[in-house]
Amino acid sequence: MSQQSKTRRAFVADHVQGIPRSGIRDFFDIVQSMDDVVSLGIGEPGFVTPWRIREAAIYAMEHGRTGYTSNHGLPKLRRAISRYVTRHFEVEYDPTNEILVTVGVSEALDIALRAVINPGDEILYHEPCYVSYSPSITLAHGRAVRIPTRAEHNFRLLADDVTAAITPRTKAIVLNFPTNPTGATMSAEDLAAIARVCCDHDLLVITDEIYSELTFTGRHQSIAALPGMRERTIFLHGFSKAFAMTGFRIGYACAPPELTEAMVRVHQYSMLCASIISQEAAIEALENGADDMAAMREQYRLRRNFIIKSFNDLGLAAHLPNGSFYAFPSVAGTGLGSREFCVQLLEQERVAVVPGNAFGPSGEGHVRASFCATMGNLERAIDGIDRFLKRRASQPSANS
Ligand code: PMP
Repeated sequence: MSQQSKTRRAFVADHVQGIPRSGIRDFFDIVQSMDDVVSLGIGEPGFVTPWRIREAAIYAMEHGRTGYTSNHGLPKLRRAISRYVTRHFEVEYDPTNEILVTVGVSEALDIALRAVINPGDEILYHEPCYVSYSPSITLAHGRAVRIPTRAEHNFRLLADDVTAAITPRTKAIVLNFPTNPTGATMSAEDLAAIARVCCDHDLLVITDEIYSELTFTGRHQSIAALPGMRERTIFLHGFSKAFAMTGFRIGYACAPPELTEAMVRVHQYSMLCASIISQEAAIEALENGADDMAAMREQYRLRRNFIIKSFNDLGLAAHLPNGSFYAFPSVAGTGLGSREFCVQLLEQERVAVVPGNAFGPSGEGHVRASFCATMGNLERAIDGIDRFLKRRASQPSANS
């Protein structure tokens, strides 16, 4: 190594050097180098943003609404968020000092962690999980402590497992139901048991409910609405998934005033505010986007039913996800590890799914397949997986 590159590496902070590259990014570098791939890989809604929402963004630009907003976000948007959260999650937040508009749930998560973590604090999270949680905790100088969840429990989080992970240094727990990548959901009773543990051990809850509208059966329950939880919860939500607005980069955090004020302190010096154009579009989504969202959810339901039945028919056991747009079938029976399965499937059939261990070691033995793709692409993907499995079965040494 030259003296120059040694010096450059030395500039990088130790805790940043220690963060591994995202397993998804790694895998998609391979996907992008190939043509004609049917991808069930990314968590991107299979619909363009509904027209009325795009039109609201165009209208804002046409009328010169192109400047900064208050650090907290447009008052009209915060009032709309307050009404929406009360109606859908049964918990009330004051738009003047308990709601902060952010650049997606990504920023909301980052500033929530940075606002509460003292160096060395332990933060629990359930795994397999969204790839950002552990690195975001590390970047905020916390210690990320994973709690594995299991297929036999449909990847629900058990209160006893939370209790077992708690130490005197535990400060908070990050929850994500419905879960990326497993589609797991929690009943009110499941969440009440977690809530009791959090109250008993005085833990803060950071709950990422970005997939809540994509709940297929029954009503989504927020932990923030359970008795005693509002005061110890930071509720994160956004527009990317339910309203197909990933590119708008818009989300929000709701929490009691002291926590919101702490998050604003981080946000005002880093992000300043979310884009006003996206904020205007978000108002339209909340006020008039319900029908568009329900129509997309219906499509996801049909696609979910098709893909889950297909995986089970092919012998790749998959539980029926009650939320999100991800299937998480087991590939353990093929004799291949998660990554080997994905790489060979990609090379042989040009079908991309994500190795389960990209979402943490407890995802090994599974793959994540997004069912946001069109029905035609889902059918092509399933045909490819069928041929792949048949080819393996016809090779006597394949499993040895
Ligand atoms: N949380 C979860 C669980 C996610 O799956 C994603 C995106 N894949 C995000 C947060 C990021 O959302 P946003 O686009 O609002 O930043």
